[in-house]
Amino acid sequence: MQPTYTISQKNIKGLKLVILSYKVETLIQTNKIPELQQCLFLHKTVQTMENRQNLEFWIYQPFWGKFELEYSVSPYFEVLQKLITEQRTKFGYKGCFLTGSMFVKDNQVITATAQDVSKHIMQTPTDQKWWSMLQSMYNLEDSKIQKIKQNLPKVLEGSGLDVREALKQFITIPSGTGYELNPGSHEDNHSEAKALYDFFGVNNEQDFDKAIANPANLEKLEQLKDSTCYLTGHWWSCKDCGRKMAKVGVKKVIINKNWVLEYILENLKWFD
Ligand SMILES: [Zn+2]
Repeated sequence: MQPTYTISQKNIKGLKLVILSYKVETLIQTNKIPELQQCLFLHKTVQTMENRQNLEFWIYQPFWGKFELEYSVSPYFEVLQKLITEQRTKFGYKGCFLTGSMFVKDNQVITATAQDVSKHIMQTPTDQKWWSMLQSMYNLEDSKIQKIKQNLPKVLEGSGLDVREALKQFITIPSGTGYELNPGSHEDNHSEAKALYDFFGVNNEQDFDKAIANPANLEKLEQLKDSTCYLTGHWWSCKDCGRKMAKVGVKKVIINKNWVLEYILENLKWFD
């Protein structure tokens, strides 16, 4: 039997894009396609050549919590993008990823924030502990560390990047890892976590746990239960944020489809 579809995959700066194509008249059961396991549907177009084909774009999710998950558009994302632009302008931050999150229920905004750029390391670290941590995390030889020490300032200084992003010039840091290297990337500063922390007036998970166990916060918990998290500035929401959102009963995560499409278009040229 002829295969009824074709699959191609691209790695776009850590984002795994899976493209499914098939003739428009074909019925496809996407849940039976192995390459689409743990992938989230992004977008569909029709190629209007003589051989009419549907093209579907799917994105691999490194983590998939017990939430409904969807790429979509929403006016809430415009509000979040403004918060992000304010942060970028204030600190001259030019890193790829700066996220914003908003929790919403019954059309009421419960809490919203952008990642805090003041927590990013944007200059070459001088602390020996930081360098030792880097070396042991990636099992780097002394010569490699020396090379990074020499060249990191050239990449980092004045670039508007944070140290974790600048390090990607020298070592492979998979998406969702290496957050220890830069407090701005740390899970406590992810916008999903930060928006929840702000709502309870805390700044770490231990205090968050205490706050949600406190009967005085029952009303706040009731607000968050079954809420939706709107996320922009990334293509997936990580396991650490998923754990915190699960603790307060978040029902759905909606990720900004337009941001993801733009990210793909901006970075695709390097891979063609
Ligand atoms: Zn996260």
